[in-house]
Amino acid sequence: MLVLKFGGTSVGSIKNMINVKNIINDGQKKIVVLSAMSGTTNTLVSLSEDIKNGNFDQALATITSLRANYDTTINALITNPEIYKSVFVYVSNVFNTLEASINKLHTTLLYNQIVAQGELLSTYIFNAYLQQENINAALLPALDFMRIDKTNEPDNFYIQQNLDRVIAEKPDAQIYITQGFICRNAEGEVSNLQRGGSDYTATIIGAVVKAEEVQIWTDIDGFHNNDPRYVDNTQAISNLSFDESAELAYFGAKILHPQTVMPVSAFDIPVRLKNTMSPDAHGTLITNQVHGEGIKAIAAKDGITAIKIKSVRMLLAHGFLKKVFEIFERYETSIDMITTSEIAVSLTIDDTTHLEAIVEELERFALVEVDDYMSIVCLVGNAIIYHADTPNLFQVLQDVNVRMISYGGSNNNISLLINTSDKLETLQKLQRYVFENGSVLV
Ligand code: ASP
Ligand code: MG
Repeated sequence: MLVLKFGGTSVGSIKNMINVKNIINDGQKKIVVLSAMSGTTNTLVSLSEDIKNGNFDQALATITSLRANYDTTINALITNPEIYKSVFVYVSNVFNTLEASINKLHTTLLYNQIVAQGELLSTYIFNAYLQQENINAALLPALDFMRIDKTNEPDNFYIQQNLDRVIAEKPDAQIYITQGFICRNAEGEVSNLQRGGSDYTATIIGAVVKAEEVQIWTDIDGFHNNDPRYVDNTQAISNLSFDESAELAYFGAKILHPQTVMPVSAFDIPVRLKNTMSPDAHGTLITNQVHGEGIKAIAAKDGITAIKIKSVRMLLAHGFLKKVFEIFERYETSIDMITTSEIAVSLTIDDTTHLEAIVEELERFALVEVDDYMSIVCLVGNAIIYHADTPNLFQVLQDVNVRMISYGGSNNNISLLINTSDKLETLQKLQRYVFENGSVLV
């Protein structure tokens, strides 16, 4: 079995939906995971915010304009009158339910129910389109099998049992369509795998069905060696190891949800990144094989806050780090980078929900300085910390103000903490030195 996931832009226009249909209609049995049409989830998130803040007029206006977009899409895509009728009823129900939620009490559950509608709409519409084109497809409702446990981890046993069950109910279908992102929680309520979670859905399913391969189809031909939004002449990387891709996804390369490779790497199921707009391009193949050496890719993650914690006793007395970490642990705030000296420890976080409380507790035994608007620039490549040319990196960065460096935490990653205002220059400089002609590195 193959598992293919298509992102928001891949189902975001009629033209792209036709591309997707052509890609999946090759006679092979497969599960197809879809995101919401591009822009929809963001719109639903802001709708939920408006309801929460009591901006009911704005909420209604948002629903009306989103509904108009969907009406236009289904009018153009679904030409068969019978099928159109069922799609129209489904879409109308979704928007009527959204309208009815304006008066409801805003809770996490309501938010989850609202944002789930994007994937429910895209899969219903796309499956109906496949029926119209006489393709042997069937819809598998993710809410019937996808579930997370109390610790927000996929409940693999439950997923396996229930996915097998829903597939067995439709044994003759060639193509199974399902929703990415959405799931149920341990209480059985509608929940999700966090923003961008459709990739994760695909690999969770891939691991459960022991897929031959999981393919993630987006609008770019794989992982690039630098961020194409800020740097010219970036190139797609043809092969990455699971570890390299996990570091890149975690530290900013937006193409993949950070947890994506976790479920499949243990089973050695390859993940292939492909471009829906140019299906013949090689893309990036992620396996447990290591290819090449030296710096393979550069990525940056914004929205980082640095916290410097200085021991008031001037020395990092033993037990100091434990006390520090316990506070972050208690507030469920994960630490990205960390460096220590004899008298201070600096670390970074990207979730500042509990920052105030954390700082207050730290200040009971330490001096604390907080800097925000920072970015982590991460350089990834197999065993880069051992590569002979890597030390040249520090020459390249002579005139960038580096606040922290993490070297050796993993063999495959060197991370630099800089001001976000220096990011563009840093990425471009690194690009020139690392990947372009006459590079001093690699
Ligand atoms: N539609 C969801 C989002 O925009 C999930 C995804 O696309 O992966 O976050
Ligand atoms: Mg995505």
